[in-house]
Amino acid sequence: MGRVLIVGGAGYIGSHVNKGLFSRGYDTVVFDNLSTGHRDAVKWGDFVLGCLSDEVQLELLFKEYDISSVLHFAAFAYVGESVEDPEKYYRNNVANTVNLLSVMRKYNVNNFIFSSTCATYGDPEYIPIDESHPQNPINPYGQTKLIVEKMLEDFASSYSEFKYVSLRYFNAAGAAADVEIGENHNPETHLIPLVLDAASGKRDKILVFGDDYDTEDGSCIRDYIHVSDLANAHILALEFLAHNNRSLKLNLGNGKGYSVKNVIDVARIVTGKEIVSEIVGRRPGDSPALVGSAEKAKQVLRWEPEYTELQPIIETAWKWHQKLNL
Ligand code: UDP
Repeated sequence: MGRVLIVGGAGYIGSHVNKGLFSRGYDTVVFDNLSTGHRDAVKWGDFVLGCLSDEVQLELLFKEYDISSVLHFAAFAYVGESVEDPEKYYRNNVANTVNLLSVMRKYNVNNFIFSSTCATYGDPEYIPIDESHPQNPINPYGQTKLIVEKMLEDFASSYSEFKYVSLRYFNAAGAAADVEIGENHNPETHLIPLVLDAASGKRDKILVFGDDYDTEDGSCIRDYIHVSDLANAHILALEFLAHNNRSLKLNLGNGKGYSVKNVIDVARIVTGKEIVSEIVGRRPGDSPALVGSAEKAKQVLRWEPEYTELQPIIETAWKWHQKLNL
């Protein structure tokens, strides 16, 4: 069957995919520079420390392992940072992905799963967003992901063997049910872990970035999807590529929107803590509401998320938060 290469497998989503692949009997190798990932999140398969900017090292990896398919998670993913430092994003998310694809071509590896994002859609023209919604990113992070999506389309149409699945994630959240692994960003910028920091006293409060949006309570709306459900979709996508001769672009979300204020309220219920919040200005690059339709993934991949409500998602995040901060 060959190895599944997980580039960025020491990160939040990649490590959950590695766990899922292992439990289904796949052999994996993780390639990661540990710039944001964690060595101890790689508990399955082989680990190779390395960076996509180094094509020579990448080639050694492809020489050493019989790689059958590649999942690519190694990207920077902070909207705010991408507005402040776009070059960092274009270099890593775009240029380094070109390196990876070029080495794949050289070694005749043709199955590729790409971590894309709902940020490629920009401000929604309608909700829920389906895959045919126009893609007009409003921040450099979304731009870099869209450029790679376009590159993959071109590769697939020009190189007949090459096929891919671009998975457009909405907001990944939660931790593995057994809390073996979970979310651990440094610095943390994501809403749910920051709210839990405020619950546990690690931070004194949670800042709400804007309550003057055109939404029900004025705060931004997002669609939260459990990381293990995301992981399962990757495995189904790999299986799709193994049995079909075509590429796919699929949303992965729950089709339900929760405002920032909703998230804080649910976290208060889950943790039983007060959680102080403060309204501050909008964060540059934020869309008012991002809610996705994942009907296509459900039909084509037969994917069915297990966590369809926010509360059980936050419950796993809270269990992990407590373990991480013991
Ligand atoms: N957010 C917030 N306070 C924070 C962090 C995030 O109000 O300290 C908001 C953010 O503006 C967005 C939502 O929470 O509307 C989700 O942000 P996150 O960074 O978790 O994910 P993103 O949607 O940027 O991928």
